[in-house]
Amino acid sequence: MIKINGLTVKYGKKTVLDNVSITFNKNRFTAVLGKNGSGKSTLFSCISRQLKYSGEIFLNGKNIDKIEPKEYAKNLSFLPQSLNKPAITVKELVQFGRNPYTGLDGRLSAEDDKKVEEALKITGLTDFSKRLLPTLSGGECQKAYLAMIIAQQTPTLLLDEPTTYMDIGAQEEFILLINKLKQNGKSPIVIMHDLALAVKYADDIVIIEKGTCIFSGTKKECLEKNIIEKAFSVRRINAENEIFFTV
Ligand code: ADP
Repeated sequence: MIKINGLTVKYGKKTVLDNVSITFNKNRFTAVLGKNGSGKSTLFSCISRQLKYSGEIFLNGKNIDKIEPKEYAKNLSFLPQSLNKPAITVKELVQFGRNPYTGLDGRLSAEDDKKVEEALKITGLTDFSKRLLPTLSGGECQKAYLAMIIAQQTPTLLLDEPTTYMDIGAQEEFILLINKLKQNGKSPIVIMHDLALAVKYADDIVIIEKGTCIFSGTKKECLEKNIIEKAFSVRRINAENEIFFTV
């Protein structure tokens, strides 16, 4: 669980996050929505300890400033928007996910190997394990990084627009995969642009607008109060069992 109290971030004189307070609940899939430039990535940069901020962020009741790096990495993983493609294999990338668990020599145990193989299997990348990252498509690369953070085995996963380079089918498949992580007690928190996919799979919705959190609650409440329609100036279309949005 993540609890954020009064989070404020400024770049020079510009306030990018203004006194944001949000609780991300355990074992829920939370979609973080908001227009471009609203502050979503900045929020994730703070939670992943890459940016200085004022306010407090608690991870499972502990202030993140006071958590040792290894303990932190066992509890929270983060997939940023832009992913590097160094000349290593998919398997080597996924093995990095085991770093918080290895000793000083960095050697992988049989348990580590097992978790790496499992992560490759869950993401359907077993046959890709020997491929070098620069030979992968953008979507395949995003999957390989997902495998890495699955191998990291953290209860909370932060993903910043993880389906940018995927076609529609691959996007939904990927979101389904993320949703399935809940079965193992995980809590995925995902910045998403596709509003229909978000309301189809998320349990909770957070909406950031111009540096403030204008909504944080269940999807049900979000839909009942027409929050998405107002925030994005869109109309909702209910078709059979699916919801779509249009301008
Ligand atoms: P989002 O993820 O919602 O698109 P961001 O968190 O990336 O939004 O950005 C929020 C605002 O902060 C934007 O106006 C952006 O231009 C500004 N911003 C982000 N990074 C920097 C930076 N390093 N220096 C100055 N302004 C920044």
